[in-house]
Amino acid sequence: MIFPTILGPLSLWLSIFTVSAAPVSPARPHLDVIVLDAGHGGKDAGAIGTNGYMEKQATLGIIRKLGNLIEKEMPGVKVVYTRKDDRFIELYRRGEIANQAKGKLFISVHCNSTPQKPSKATGFTTYILRPGKTDAAIHVAARENAVIKYEPDKTRYAHLSDVDFILTSMSRNQDVKFSEKFAALVQQELGKKISIADNGVSQAGFFVLVGASMPNVLIETGFISNPKEETLLKSESGQSNYARGILNAIKKYKAIYERS
Ligand SMILES: [Zn+2]
Repeated sequence: MIFPTILGPLSLWLSIFTVSAAPVSPARPHLDVIVLDAGHGGKDAGAIGTNGYMEKQATLGIIRKLGNLIEKEMPGVKVVYTRKDDRFIELYRRGEIANQAKGKLFISVHCNSTPQKPSKATGFTTYILRPGKTDAAIHVAARENAVIKYEPDKTRYAHLSDVDFILTSMSRNQDVKFSEKFAALVQQELGKKISIADNGVSQAGFFVLVGASMPNVLIETGFISNPKEETLLKSESGQSNYARGILNAIKKYKAIYERS
């Protein structure tokens, strides 16, 4: 009778040990919250086309259409907007909103522009956060970052340099890989819906992306300084096509993300 009394507690301890020593399987990633960021707003019009259409209007139109499509076609995915109307939101605050909402993907939508207007510069580009490699990319980030002139406290961005963009992307290595994947899908799917030049995926130091601690991209949808692209960005059908292209990229990305 001695064995059962010894083995009883021993097997119990073994089973406890086995349970506690078993590797904890991490929760599978779930793309349950998407943060949509319409660039500019309020006193910050962004770039303005030769016919007077404003970047802040195009970005809000595309973002709202995209949000409606996600809510309709992707049940279980929550949409969080950094702005849903014509208001000014500081760049750092956009990242805060995304982090507080526990966003799994951050999409910032903008329009490109050239200093001289009108111009024939054309195409859409999706950017990820890393130090800019080309003059064109550095110039785009400088123009987008310049909106901090409207913010009361510009010092919060004073420390941001190429080193910070490298460190941020290194510390979020997994996020950067997903950002790259999503950026490639955005270009691929926009290309099926929008018949302007595909300028590929690029990288630069966008302040708005530094703050959002999740895979993130910034889409330059087209050149508002090009009258043809201004018309496209202004039209309901153009905005719908942008929204549909980005939605299709999100659907493909979700499958990849949740398999990882
Ligand atoms: Zn912009």
